[in-house]
Amino acid sequence: MLPFKLVYSEKYFLPIGEHVFRADKYRLIQERLLQQHVADSGDFIVPQPASESDVTLVHSPHYINKLMEGGLSAREELQMEIPYSPQVVDAFMLHTGGSILAAERALKDGICVNVGGGFHHAFPDHGEGFCMINDIAVAIRAMQKRGRIRRAMTIDCDVHQGNGTAFIFGNSIPRPDILPSTSAPVLGRIPAEEAVKGKDVFTISLHQEHNYPYVKPASSIDVNLPDGCGDSEYLGWLDNALSSALRQFEPELLSYVAGADPFGQDQLGGLSLTIDGLKQRDELVFRAARARDIPIMTTYAGGYAHHVEDTVTIHCNTVIAAAEVYRAAESRLST
Ligand SMILES: [Zn+2]
Repeated sequence: MLPFKLVYSEKYFLPIGEHVFRADKYRLIQERLLQQHVADSGDFIVPQPASESDVTLVHSPHYINKLMEGGLSAREELQMEIPYSPQVVDAFMLHTGGSILAAERALKDGICVNVGGGFHHAFPDHGEGFCMINDIAVAIRAMQKRGRIRRAMTIDCDVHQGNGTAFIFGNSIPRPDILPSTSAPVLGRIPAEEAVKGKDVFTISLHQEHNYPYVKPASSIDVNLPDGCGDSEYLGWLDNALSSALRQFEPELLSYVAGADPFGQDQLGGLSLTIDGLKQRDELVFRAARARDIPIMTTYAGGYAHHVEDTVTIHCNTVIAAAEVYRAAESRLST
């Protein structure tokens, strides 16, 4: 039994046909976790779809109406890069409900993993890059609305910049400094103190600079990584960005976007992380959260390895890494 819950529904499958985004990955992850006895069936909890009122905490009613009534233009559907259908909308509402549930459980248990979600390219009034609803932002706004938290921090480690999330939480804050993509894993400049003051959501994105999205709205910290960046360089940048962020901002919830696409064999990524390096990345994030006692929710986002088994391994390793970090914490407490 795991020391935390996994949020999952068999209805996470997105009916989008033959696609580089293997929407059967969620089922394959659940099956692998069970087969390898990482988790048992009692570790899984099933989400309800998000309500429209929660979704409109982030998205415009006009956009939600278009989704519900099939009113997207051909151009809007093209920008989404997945085919529209009411069933696809239902699946996104369920993933979003899953992230809300993961946030609730993280606040209760210290950590929770949504075996889905992470649709960080969705904007308030449109979807793009395989993302229709920004479940990450909806979950945070829902927790704030319910008075459960005031401040949150997103740590987006997908290979693609979290443009939707950065835009949603960017509001009127001045554009922060962008970290230069030099080879030394030393944090360049950090956001000015005034830029952080009064902010309720601090966003961090580590991503490949020369990749989608080509327009990158400013996150609180953007780490623009060079092509081919490997494990040690990546982990150095992550460690620096995270510790710098946590020195200047005290979140009551961390939202970790554990994309599998920084993997060297990814079809849509150009970084060179190994499967082992990605697991170390997960451990680093979970250790940082655990050491400071900050609840952390995790979503999966992208993963398009040439062999889907590799994507599944990377996502399963996120659960294994969390189990190792939180079991170690448990046993320390009980001795
Ligand atoms: Zn991605």
